[in-house]
Amino acid sequence: MFSVYNSLGKRLETVQPIRKGEVGIYSCGPTVYDYAHIGNLRSFLLSDLVRRSFEYSGLKVKQVMNITDVGIGGNNDEGEDKIIKGLKREGKEVTMESMKELGDFYTEKFKVDMRKLNILTPHVLPRASEHIAEDIEMIQTLDAKGFVYKISDGVYFDTSKDPNYGKLGGTGGDESRIAENSEKRNAKDFALWKFNQNLGYPSPWGQGFPGWHIECSAMSTKYLGQPFDFHTGGIDLAPIHHNNEIAQSENACGCGFAHYWLHNEFVNVADGKMAKSEGNHITLRTLVDKGLSPLAYRYFLLGSHYRTPTNFSWEALEASQNAYRRLKEYISTLPKGGIFKRGRVNQTYKKEFTEAMESDFNTPEALAVVWKLTKDVSVPSLDKRATLLDFDKVLGLELEENEFEVKDIPAEIRKLLQERAAARKNKDFPTSDRLRDEIKKKGFVVEDTDTEQRISRV
Ligand code: AMP
Ligand code: ZN
Repeated sequence: MFSVYNSLGKRLETVQPIRKGEVGIYSCGPTVYDYAHIGNLRSFLLSDLVRRSFEYSGLKVKQVMNITDVGIGGNNDEGEDKIIKGLKREGKEVTMESMKELGDFYTEKFKVDMRKLNILTPHVLPRASEHIAEDIEMIQTLDAKGFVYKISDGVYFDTSKDPNYGKLGGTGGDESRIAENSEKRNAKDFALWKFNQNLGYPSPWGQGFPGWHIECSAMSTKYLGQPFDFHTGGIDLAPIHHNNEIAQSENACGCGFAHYWLHNEFVNVADGKMAKSEGNHITLRTLVDKGLSPLAYRYFLLGSHYRTPTNFSWEALEASQNAYRRLKEYISTLPKGGIFKRGRVNQTYKKEFTEAMESDFNTPEALAVVWKLTKDVSVPSLDKRATLLDFDKVLGLELEENEFEVKDIPAEIRKLLQERAAARKNKDFPTSDRLRDEIKKKGFVVEDTDTEQRISRV
């Protein structure tokens, strides 16, 4: 029985899928104008964990994540199209073709990041540029119902016509938004379509681009129907993007939208929130260049609950990598069994693990269960391995493979290890520490057990 914190209503709720045994999830995906940063990846990981947890519990899942490869704005309608911004940043000509090329390029990079983080590919990854007709259709429906007005720069949603506008909260008193556009009827009204004389798609109102909010409304409804079960995204999207999605979708359909809204908190860095616009973002590539494993970052994220802000630091990530490596090493020492002797999943631990994940996806607690099991001498090793690998269906840490394992120790490293063993024997710890650092610079980590030096890759 899953209990989740629903941002809609701000309380824990027991999950009741709309269709028995099935769950639909829509997640706001990347804007493909740049590499995803490791903060963005936290939101995609949330979606992955939700999917994996439901599948683990035997539910059938349909997961949809959009790719924003065209569309106006972030939270404010004056925001330039981000794809156009990306083209300008890269010194490229702004045409429809170059917009597509940029979107294609960063969509591929996003897929690579997803694979590196072992995030399962959503069942549908709709691209906004391929759903313009659906956007127009939804705007027309809203128009027919009297929610739409046209001004000189675009077509807008009239929030005053919706008495329930702002269900997720956080919309309050943002008068600055009206100053941006004096023709708007209400401060909170937002663009459904924005005109552009030079570029864009034809529409009944004039050439231009759809708003980012209508894209998510149109694509979620197209692939999941309406209402559907889950909608996820970063916490910054709730006040405007998600409230606007709700207003559009509910009024167009005359029915409910997403039943459960899950929002992940931010990954922060020392100087505040990590964002592409702040210029302080770290990508998965940077991390790999520093010799860190993408899955160590996954482990790092699992260490905090998705509703807690996480402070990223290199030290913290290194500590996670060490713990992650220890876990993998431990598992690689467990017997694998064979055809006649198979490990069985320990049901007591499985219950504990499941309870943690079903309590609003409590990954820190799930990891605590993992570590508790590794230390429990009463569970046979074969069963331990089977149980840990079973948990990995949800954790997605690729615990079975040990990329840190060193099969052939290079001669140079072997020599340093011998020197270090001698230093340790003579209790010459400064030399031993210096050699450890030297070995690390060459890409290997030494750990001391009572009897030997264990070596793995950084
Ligand atoms: P974008 O590619 O900018 O459209 O963002 C994709 C997703 O990342 C959205 O759900 C954002 O809310 C989320 N997001 C952006 N910055 C962060 C951050 N620093 N930490 C966690 N999630 C973030
Ligand atoms: Zn969205």
